[in-house]
Amino acid sequence: MKFLTDMAAKRAELAPERIAFIDHGTGLQYTFAEVNDRAVQLGNLLLQRGLAKGDRIAVLCHNHPDFFVLLFAAQKTGIVLVPLNWRQPLAELEPVLKSSKATLLFHDEPCCKLASGLVAQTGIDCLMLGADGKTGSILESQPAINDKAPIGDGRIDPDAPWYLLFTSGTTGQPKAVIQTAGMALANMINYTQATGLGTQEHGVNFLPLFHTAGINLPTLPIFLNGGCSTILRKFDPDTVLSLINDGKVTCFFGVPAIYQALALSQRIGETDFKTVRSLGCGGAPVPKHLLIDFQKRGVTICNGMGMTETGPTVFLMDKEKAAEKIGSVGKPQILTDVRLQDPAGRVVGGEGSGEIQFRGPNITPGYMDNPNATAASFTADGWLKSGDVGKRDADGYYYIIDRIKDMYISGGENVYPAEVEKVLVTHPAILEAVVIGVPDENWGEVGAAFIVPRPGSDLNTDELPDWCRQHLAPYKIPKSFTVDGEMPRTAAGKVRKNILKDAFLASTP
Ligand code: ATP
Ligand code: MG
Repeated sequence: MKFLTDMAAKRAELAPERIAFIDHGTGLQYTFAEVNDRAVQLGNLLLQRGLAKGDRIAVLCHNHPDFFVLLFAAQKTGIVLVPLNWRQPLAELEPVLKSSKATLLFHDEPCCKLASGLVAQTGIDCLMLGADGKTGSILESQPAINDKAPIGDGRIDPDAPWYLLFTSGTTGQPKAVIQTAGMALANMINYTQATGLGTQEHGVNFLPLFHTAGINLPTLPIFLNGGCSTILRKFDPDTVLSLINDGKVTCFFGVPAIYQALALSQRIGETDFKTVRSLGCGGAPVPKHLLIDFQKRGVTICNGMGMTETGPTVFLMDKEKAAEKIGSVGKPQILTDVRLQDPAGRVVGGEGSGEIQFRGPNITPGYMDNPNATAASFTADGWLKSGDVGKRDADGYYYIIDRIKDMYISGGENVYPAEVEKVLVTHPAILEAVVIGVPDENWGEVGAAFIVPRPGSDLNTDELPDWCRQHLAPYKIPKSFTVDGEMPRTAAGKVRKNILKDAFLASTP
């Protein structure tokens, strides 16, 4: 059997005394040796509770370095970790937990109430870990936690499920995507290659750890390269900007909503970004004006694209071309093949557009316990169908046009809402715009726009059709403009268009 080495053990061997993680909330620090020791202890605890390779354990906790300790404990034992979204209410979590088939639940103090609800409803075993890393039922009541005996023979199966991650649920019910150690390694190579990640890296991570970006962009790659990650309990723009200003942070990754919040913070003007080499952005369309706004401050944001199903790094813009190819997600990274396919199933060559499809070692083997969804997501010749339309320019740079699901047809013409949204956010009084297709008696479907105005601006929506007319064909201009305070979002910060659509349909006769 081909195998990988035990990454946590290797790092502990190479640089035991270096700091791997800092918990921003408590100041707690773990060296690489401590991460590995704790992962061994936790792994032994799991084995002594009768768990074995392939069994599943769930975790419900706010961001903390112990999340990564658990992840490595899972890797050492072959037990599959299932991170749960603590923002979900009990009613939503219960079916997710049941479908995951987890038999043990880890949680932190803030999630006590949710965890006891889950225990009451499902009878699952549960253990708590304190934020100080020293208290909680795991450490207090389990003598087995002191067992530092090596686990197994140190060989990691690259193809076995390591952890499961739920997709963001932007287009419907989140799906449980299998993540393997082989995928993580391929992602690390793709990310390292794209950004030139080195051993001296210091990342700040505020993204929820139950999504791929929180784990893999770039905390695991930083760990594997021997760098350090400061883990924030959750995102707060002022805290992030002050950490950047301290001059230690070299890289981080955010979704567009994060950059928007940073740009609106009072502190942005006085923040010196000079130590930050790599700022990645992805997960949703990023407005050009936001990229330009940061560029004017001397800060280059690199737009990238990936999916939970792709580990996630596939595309990440190179810094040198970011200004020239503004809005592009760059070229496919070193280990991943990309092709564009037209609706008739023909591969599109040269400059052109079509569904983006992926192939490579960073691609998931499929959805857990869901062969139908897996079969539906791959082509007959084994490429992952992204469900996104992209285009390639003459230099081989890619641009994301929109999700196929979000496209609507107005008077027989295809409309990609993202194109209309991009035009709307160039209006000085608009902070954010979301467009959805809604049924219409005359046109089949028409656009309905939802607008968040810029704070302090005086927006008159009657002007907006004219504004659009300057940049868009008439059939692309939304027929209604609704002003909203904020958008319904997933935990990954993406707009839940299905909720806007349901609300719109419910409010129209
Ligand atoms: P679900 O699959 O549950 O509907 P999701 O697709 O949002 O949710 P993720 O795996 O987190 O779940 O996100 C991947 C998707 O995010 C891509 O398929 C693409 O639609 C979108 N995306 C990622 N990066 C970008 C980007 N830079 N620009 C535009 N869209 C992006
Ligand atoms: Mg998806």
